[in-house]
Amino acid sequence: MNPCRRIKMQGASMKNRIEGDNILIIGAGVGGLSAGILLLLLGYRVTIVEKNHLPGGLMRSYVRRGIDCPVGVHYVGALGDDEPLGKMFQALGISVEDLFFRMGGRGIVDRYLFDDFVFDLPAGLDAYEENLRRACPADGKALDILMKNMRETARRMKEPSFILNQGDPFQNMDQFRPMGELLDELGASPRLRAILAVPCQLIGVGLGECPVIFHHMVLAGYLLSSWRPKSGGNRLADVFIDRFTSLGGRLMLGAGVQKIEVAGRKVKGVLLENGEDLPADAIVAAIHPRVIAGLLAEADLRATLRERILSLQETEGVVVVHAGVDASAHLVPDHNTYRLHHNRHGVIEDGTFYQLRHAGNGVNLLSAITHSAYNDWKSWEKTITGRRGAAYEEKKQLIADEVLGRAEDVFGPFKNLRILDVFTPLTVRDYVNCPRGACYGLLRSAGQLMKIASVSRLSVGGLFSAGQNTVAPGLLGCILGSFQVAAKIAGSERYAACFPQLL
Ligand SMILES: Cc1cc2nc3c(=O)[nH]c(=O)nc-3n(C[C@H](O)[C@H](O)[C@H](O)COP(=O)(O)OP(=O)(O)OC[C@H]3O[C@@H](n4cnc5c(N)ncnc54)[C@H](O)[C@@H]3O)c2cc1C
Repeated sequence: MNPCRRIKMQGASMKNRIEGDNILIIGAGVGGLSAGILLLLLGYRVTIVEKNHLPGGLMRSYVRRGIDCPVGVHYVGALGDDEPLGKMFQALGISVEDLFFRMGGRGIVDRYLFDDFVFDLPAGLDAYEENLRRACPADGKALDILMKNMRETARRMKEPSFILNQGDPFQNMDQFRPMGELLDELGASPRLRAILAVPCQLIGVGLGECPVIFHHMVLAGYLLSSWRPKSGGNRLADVFIDRFTSLGGRLMLGAGVQKIEVAGRKVKGVLLENGEDLPADAIVAAIHPRVIAGLLAEADLRATLRERILSLQETEGVVVVHAGVDASAHLVPDHNTYRLHHNRHGVIEDGTFYQLRHAGNGVNLLSAITHSAYNDWKSWEKTITGRRGAAYEEKKQLIADEVLGRAEDVFGPFKNLRILDVFTPLTVRDYVNCPRGACYGLLRSAGQLMKIASVSRLSVGGLFSAGQNTVAPGLLGCILGSFQVAAKIAGSERYAACFPQLL
């Protein structure tokens, strides 16, 4: 008998205990899908309701002129066999080798092109330390300390407690102060600050406010190992969906949730936009906390908690440009490129991420991602995707021309360049229902961490949150959050029996 089912009704602590095994998940992004797979493995009955007609959320790509254009997965870290994301993929029953290939084979994962120097982020902590010491010879003492911390973080990330801890995954790590503050204390040079600021950009937080632990976790994850999707986000999304449905999960598409129904301070189910009522013993909301607050009636969410949720700051949005270029003229490098400008204090003021991928039929795909504030698109706030008008299209075209013009400094003059698509924070907002189109959700600044932690305890019985706003953004953060939610619902004994490979 399946050990997960044998201890089925023992399980969660009194606080999290749910009656029955009918679980409803709102949102079929990577957060909702991975939570769904885990809860099915734990023996629950699971339904995912997704407002879009295509599941996958930001993980899914889209096709323009026959070319697969990525949205929210360009590269990920820590997918090796003994690394946290790799171990979580094994527990989910999803093959890493089928979906990803390892980067850094030619020695570089990321190339940072600053105005005054070039830094290569290689595979592995030792090689990274060597490159840092070469680039920043005056920072020897600071690097002794930083690299010791980084190795400690990488070591902890490989320990079972990293995935198994319920609630706060970093409870033993006293590293919540801002990275910028630590670098001030260590007297780091502007060059070292600029190099170390890049991993913070990956979760959308500036160096001055990024908690040391998040900086180290993101960087250590990519240094453990870095991987690119083999055949795009559509396939990635389909593999998660196949796994979910093959375990018996029910997926309802075009099923937007309008209301979370609560009675006696416990969830009872959801009301869909089409008027259908779906009962549930527990609900996992793998969507933005502001949206969750909007789905709960005034009386069902404490006013102070609602206010706190609404006051939370978001990460910045981005504009993404996808363009096709001649494959024979623009060979695909094994690494990503960041074109960055820093000021004399080492603060990164402007930057663009470029990735060149094989697209087939003599074409390579160039994707460029650059920051763009939601307020820059305020004039079109009340419009919907596809109907924003000529002025919006012109603004997108201008940005695309500028970004691609700058890209020629990196890749040389483009041959057969054609823009395939440009999307903005408004596109992201409408596509996945994320209020300000922030690609990494809530801002994980040192000042906001406690507030965010309280938001994930929603004070409604049987209501749990998952997705990128719960623990951390990105595939690693989202899936880690799903393991935590599964552990909360099932209880540690049943969870440990079901996933012995994580112990
Ligand atoms: C441009 C960009 C680049 C990125 N690059 C990377 C990268 O290279 N590596 C990496 O690890 N991460 C990257 N990320 C981040 C990563 O994509 C996200 O952290 C992750 O995909 C978020 O997953 P999620 O499940 O939390 O949310 P989502 O993917 O947003 O899924 C939420 C789902 O809920 C649905 N939904 C919302 N409201 C409702 C409702 N009321 N009823 C029913 N359904 C609803 C939405 O339609 C959506 O499908 C990137 C993100 C962006 C935008």
